[in-house]
Amino acid sequence: MANDVRNVVIIGGGPAGYTAAIYAARAAASPLLIEGFEPGGQLMTTTEIENFPGFEESIAGPELMNRMKAQAGRVGTEFLTDAVESVDLSNRPFRVKTNTGEVLAKTLIIATGAKAKWLGIESEQKFMGRGVSACATCDGFFYRGKEVAVVGGGDTACEEAIYLTNHATKVYLVHRRDELRASKIMADRLLANPKIEPVWYSMVDEILGDDSGVTGVRLKSTKDGSTKDLAIDGIFMAIGHQPMVDFLGGQLELTATGNIKTAPDSTKTSVKGVFAAGDVQDSVYRQAVTAAGTGCMAAIEATRLLEEDE
Ligand code: NDP
Repeated sequence: MANDVRNVVIIGGGPAGYTAAIYAARAAASPLLIEGFEPGGQLMTTTEIENFPGFEESIAGPELMNRMKAQAGRVGTEFLTDAVESVDLSNRPFRVKTNTGEVLAKTLIIATGAKAKWLGIESEQKFMGRGVSACATCDGFFYRGKEVAVVGGGDTACEEAIYLTNHATKVYLVHRRDELRASKIMADRLLANPKIEPVWYSMVDEILGDDSGVTGVRLKSTKDGSTKDLAIDGIFMAIGHQPMVDFLGGQLELTATGNIKTAPDSTKTSVKGVFAAGDVQDSVYRQAVTAAGTGCMAAIEATRLLEEDE
């Protein structure tokens, strides 16, 4: 593969990457999509998706990803399952170094997504998808009439907590301090919501549950180490997201949130010929459908640049 210069190389197998591949393939740009060893991205851990248009009965996350991938393949995308170690963006064609070799790319679409940060405790893993979530928009609906907790004190935590009040009867906001990191407008909105009860100076010590899933959470005081149990049906982690940008080695400009910076209304990055789509670029919407949308934009912008090159 070493000297094979590809028109469009897409890094990342999630909604942004697959959609970029569909558009690039249909523009006859013969894209190569490099997906890691866990393709599908964050949606692979989502059970049911009820907000992706076109699936009135909802669709499981992995099923949606498999279909997008199959569609990308059918229109002519080539796939490479490999881990991208680094990229060299100093000259076009760009060099993409993977575990097994090197790919040369006239244009590059980065759609590596973001990872929700997790607490890293064993019980969190144990109840993942059975009461533990990191996406209220994805899973909030399942807590209609129930009580839930959100962990974190930033804008995401506030947004998730406020959203969850549409479904849950009560939402505890568990935060390790007594001051929210969130913007004032968001914090004020959260504190004014009668369905939300902040639980200050608290960290999750253990998530409690049984065969049916989460039944509660053991909280530990950050002041005196004392513990108390709270009965809840679900817990949402909102302690931040980590855009997957390490392999870039600082060659692209990032935003204050660590996302790849793109020009307004565009997926163009600080390097000509490199485009970014999906959660690696977006810290605000972070939805499958918006990721697909920016993936589409990136492919159109990449193929237009190829036309200009000619
Ligand atoms: P942030 O990094 O802003 O906040 C993370 C929160 O989680 C903090 O309150 C932090 O506590 C807490 N936290 C972190 N690690 C742990 C841990 N191990 N245990 C317990 N608590 C922990 O992330 P967000 O996802 O909230 O926001 C990311 C960016 O996206 C921000 O710039 C935000 O403004 C932006 N955003 C904007 C939105 C909007 O404008 N509508 C919506 C969502 C996000 P502590 O405060 O003590 O550090």
